[in-house]
Amino acid sequence: MIAVVKQAATKEQLGHLIEWIEDRGFKTHVSQGDNETIVGIIGDTTQIDPFLLESMSIVERVQRVSEPFKKANRKFHPEDTVVDCGHGVLLGGGHFQVMAGPCSVEGKNLLHIARLAKKAGATMLRGGAYKPRTSPYAFQGMGPQGLDLLLEASAELDMPVVTEIMDPRDVELFLDRGVDVMQIGARNAQNFTLLKEVGKTCVPVLLKRGLAGTIDELLMAAEYIMSEGNPNVILCERGIRTFETRTRNTFDVNAIPVLKHLSHLPVVGDPSHATGYTRYVRSAAYAATAAGADGLEIEVHDEPSAAWSDGAQALTPEQFADAMRRIRLIRKAVTANLDEE
Ligand code: PEP
Ligand code: MN
Repeated sequence: MIAVVKQAATKEQLGHLIEWIEDRGFKTHVSQGDNETIVGIIGDTTQIDPFLLESMSIVERVQRVSEPFKKANRKFHPEDTVVDCGHGVLLGGGHFQVMAGPCSVEGKNLLHIARLAKKAGATMLRGGAYKPRTSPYAFQGMGPQGLDLLLEASAELDMPVVTEIMDPRDVELFLDRGVDVMQIGARNAQNFTLLKEVGKTCVPVLLKRGLAGTIDELLMAAEYIMSEGNPNVILCERGIRTFETRTRNTFDVNAIPVLKHLSHLPVVGDPSHATGYTRYVRSAAYAATAAGADGLEIEVHDEPSAAWSDGAQALTPEQFADAMRRIRLIRKAVTANLDEE
């Protein structure tokens, strides 16, 4: 971290600043330029509040030179992380996976949808048993019964399941049932108690970007999980809230290569929540694949108009099958080694 000191600062004031920093256990390195003086702060500067430092009268601005996320940082872990999602399914480091299924688990139709999704090429089954709904009066999910249905379908089709956990008190239940991947939804992306609790397990976590979360906030949320000991984190770009109203969210395709640059963790794109409308989901899925995502999460329903949640953005199994064929082609194009041709 560096602090740029105002030109008007006296030697005495600069001395006080250095003392303040060193009193907190850091080393300093002062470089006196013609126009400005820069104080380099050496040590684990994640402990320093940059805003507090910036509020000091002689400090012009403060800049971090190293990111506050360490365990999620590619600088300290250059190779891609490969997450073992169970049932022999690996994600990341060249292993591309597609998770598909309904927004909510609704009953017996789950197995039917899962079969069709698998036939089309899905390698993981998604479905919410606990639903974070904007209205407390909307369907809240089937709860434990929903988990049972997911695990039955998972066993029958030999596919890992990914399902959302909303409450830290449910971690034990999810572990008992043998949920393969726990999803942390956008609304809980900064629920630090929940992040820490799933961090104490070794179950893979699909961590979604917050509704208005920055890339750094997503990485710091991952850091919360990893700092508790769980290295199996999958990042998910699912669209962010912007001024645009024509789509449910704005798909930040940029975030995919940015996250892959900054972090070694696998990155998945969710074109369903990113767009909110069936007619746009496939285009966004292709964009995410082309942008280098390690996987996709797509909502699929056999009868979208009857879905209990998010029917407006569900692909039918036929639409999903068509999308999968094109996704495979795009994936081939972006991973091809053209030197060999
Ligand atoms: C979901 O996956 O159904 C969901 C609620 O996603 P998000 O948290 O991204 O809105
Ligand atoms: Mn949904």
